[in-house]
Amino acid sequence: ESIIKAESLDVYYDQFHALKNINLNMKKNTVTALIGPSGCGKSTFLRTLNRMNDLVDGFRAEGNIWIDNYNIYDPKTDVVKLRRDVGMVFQRPNPFPMSIYDNVAYGPRIHGITKKKVLDEIVEKSLRQAALWDDVKDRLNSSAMGMSGGQQQRLVIARVLAIEPGVILMDEPASALDPISTSKIEELILELKEKFTIVIVTHSMQQAARVSDDTAFFLNGEVIEYGNTN
Ligand code: ADP
Ligand code: ADP
Repeated sequence: ESIIKAESLDVYYDQFHALKNINLNMKKNTVTALIGPSGCGKSTFLRTLNRMNDLVDGFRAEGNIWIDNYNIYDPKTDVVKLRRDVGMVFQRPNPFPMSIYDNVAYGPRIHGITKKKVLDEIVEKSLRQAALWDDVKDRLNSSAMGMSGGQQQRLVIARVLAIEPGVILMDEPASALDPISTSKIEELILELKEKFTIVIVTHSMQQAARVSDDTAFFLNGEVIEYGNTN
């Protein structure tokens, strides 16, 4: 069964036709790589999947996107729930200027969790899942801004995991990182797919080959090839 399904999806920015008749089917516990030259619509697709583009002037989506059997553009869809179900990681690590602990506890606190014991457990579990616990367990109250870029990106992933999404979207999550941090992120992606469904934008064919099950090639707003990566 597919957890993410785009069906005859067209996206416009005013008159500009940014995505043309996109049809993709992503199964649970898989990694799908979106690949293609700059400006072909990969980020647009990702930002359409969690309705982040709603706020963009002139943005319009036609067709259907199903996530977990609900149509995300149905007027009845709860966008707050959607944002909980679909976590997003960006190219540049963007930790909040607060402690490591508070970064990870941020989402759960917004969702009303206040008990310290419960937050402690979520923070530890999320940092472990993001392969960061051993690096930071002795300095949870230090500022996140003092971490390396690679650690910051794993912290951002832990922050996303703490809200327990089913789907994680990653927009070139390693392209701002050094090779060692990049391979740690790739290893992490392979571990995370046991529990989550992941969509990753990359412009590296090699990275797509290393981390993904399926690949969709975008060109000028169209998917020109889609299928098993290997
Ligand atoms: P990619 O992620 O593959 O580099 P994008 O999705 O960022 O591509 O962009 C696809 C096309 O849509 C580009 O031509 C880009 O200029 C255009 N585009 C992206 N965002 C906007 C926007 N907010 N308003 C107008 N055009 C946009
Ligand atoms: P990146 O290469 O990191 O995806 P971009 O420079 O393509 O960054 O886009 C940065 C931001 O600018 C995005 O929010 C995108 O939607 C917006 N954007 C891109 N192209 C256009 C455009 N032609 N008109 C307006 N906004 C755009």
